[in-house]
Amino acid sequence: MGKIARVILDSPLPSLDKLFDYQVGAEIEDLIRVGQRVRVSFGRSKALQDAFVIEVADSSEFVGKLSSISQLVSSVPVLPSNIYTLLRTLADRQASTVGDTLGSAIPQRFVRVEKKFIADAAPLQSPRRVEHAAITAILARPTQVESNFAVKPLSDWIVKLLEAANEAISSGFSALLLVPDYRDQNLLRDAIANTHLKDHYLDFSSDQTGSKRYEASLSCLTEGNHLVVGSRSALFAPLQNLGVIAIYDDGDSSFQDQQSPYAHARDIALIRQVIDGCSLRFVAHARSSEVQRLIDIKYITEITNAFVAPKVAFDETNSRVSTLAWQAIREAAETGAVLVQVGSRGVARTAYCQDCSTRALCMRCNGPLWIDATATPRCRWCNAQNLAYTCSQCKSKKLRQGYGGSTRTVAEFGAAFPGLQLIESTGDNKVMSIEGKRKIVISTPGAEPEAAGGYAAVVILDAGQALNRDSLRASEEAVREWSNAIAKMSSSGRAVIVGIPNHLGQRLALWQQADIARDELDSRRELNFPPHVRLGSIEGSMALISALVDEVKVKGVEFLGPITVRSKTGDEEQRLVIKYPYSAGAQLAEALRAAQLKLTAGSTKTGASGRVSRAIRLRMDDPEVI
Ligand SMILES: [Zn+2]
Ligand SMILES: [Zn+2]
Repeated sequence: MGKIARVILDSPLPSLDKLFDYQVGAEIEDLIRVGQRVRVSFGRSKALQDAFVIEVADSSEFVGKLSSISQLVSSVPVLPSNIYTLLRTLADRQASTVGDTLGSAIPQRFVRVEKKFIADAAPLQSPRRVEHAAITAILARPTQVESNFAVKPLSDWIVKLLEAANEAISSGFSALLLVPDYRDQNLLRDAIANTHLKDHYLDFSSDQTGSKRYEASLSCLTEGNHLVVGSRSALFAPLQNLGVIAIYDDGDSSFQDQQSPYAHARDIALIRQVIDGCSLRFVAHARSSEVQRLIDIKYITEITNAFVAPKVAFDETNSRVSTLAWQAIREAAETGAVLVQVGSRGVARTAYCQDCSTRALCMRCNGPLWIDATATPRCRWCNAQNLAYTCSQCKSKKLRQGYGGSTRTVAEFGAAFPGLQLIESTGDNKVMSIEGKRKIVISTPGAEPEAAGGYAAVVILDAGQALNRDSLRASEEAVREWSNAIAKMSSSGRAVIVGIPNHLGQRLALWQQADIARDELDSRRELNFPPHVRLGSIEGSMALISALVDEVKVKGVEFLGPITVRSKTGDEEQRLVIKYPYSAGAQLAEALRAAQLKLTAGSTKTGASGRVSRAIRLRMDDPEVI
């Protein structure tokens, strides 16, 4: 009967999330390979659909006449077996579909790039696995260190990533280095350019053009050992001989998927590690509670070497800038640059009614207002300008500023330190690097510029605010942000954290990152919160959610709620929180998917605002739910 191809359709619909058999036409029988993009007819629709070949077989169990594959889009196997297995496993774990992730896993196709790739005819790599894979966690020394790799000292986290890559590359394997954003990618790219690793480098940076990205993705398929650097989506790079995945700063929020399958890069990496049989290494200045959990259950081995802790002082004062902080800034500015981390951008983080002190809320959506860098009141939720602000309680039009943001801090420090240069760096307006002394950088977390040779002092303000953020992760996130700032200090520099409680201050002064992570995990365990358990959410209409809960009977799963939420389509809907042990995850995901398929077939609905969304939205992991 000729060859049969099993394909997955490029569609997010749960009802199509399985393999379909097609008869391979005689004209392409010798050309068809696993991983190729094809076009097939499906159902009654005349239009051809994109699909990928997952298996090629000699027979089919399908009873009836098979449709035949009408078109091979190209000969390049863009979805090799290991990547399909990764997508399948991920979809099964997250109660999503393979189609949900195809778009981010396979970069957009550029015909011109593909034609050149085929014309170059570089031999393709056959799959190979490492024999001794290890999963390890390492705390990076918070300073610059000398290394065998580069002529100048490098940040220790960069050295640790390069070491991991070098081990793999020198044994003939490929390496995958993941960092949170383009600034870290640039630092890493510059460091690699000074080493022999540059000959293996493939650029997956998030600031790449689409065609460059596609080119890099195709290059992964060729023979040789490659070094891929990128952000979370690089986890799907179709390397066939992966030796190591190394992730820097896994606690960064950019590693969390904001759309289906709502998976964290850490979890995707753990799945890929098993499929590809490679090593996996987590490198960070502060440790995430998730990595600490994996160390606790002995899934990950800790390999941090002893190092000298940075000089960190702290005080518990209530004043925003303490005497200790003023002193540190004044002294350090004479010999180098000073980094001051503040909690938020703009003039003020919050605003109140001047007459009755009610928290100022957006006139459009009731979100909290803040005052931006141009002194305009803005909504934190919808970003609307609130120029005609009127208090909902007393109708006053006067606003009073709350906590100072970076812009006001710059003005205040400018007045306090005449003669020093003030530089503001925020998420909207990032300064990449600075040089020289007599400079004070005021920066929001994550926007700190690199200082040549490291900062002479790092001062952390608004620590109390950071710890009191309305989030389960507030403390963990604060420690991570402070630690990353302090890591930009020179080895002789000193840091001051203002307004931090004694027990946490003590731990940071001794740089006991592992103990801090252990404490954090202990408190989550007491509360029965993630990462001790998994926490997800279900959103939809009351009727659908109740029907879904009736269908899903899995031991150990708790449903909490529902609470009323406003969906993206603008309608009022209900949200249920699901809390469950890791051991129930697979069974729950399967039950939820089956119930969703039965109740809605994954159908979509159009809301009042005209936006389309699924009638039931499942998140097996929802970090924002508490
Ligand atoms: Zn008022
Ligand atoms: Zn608003």
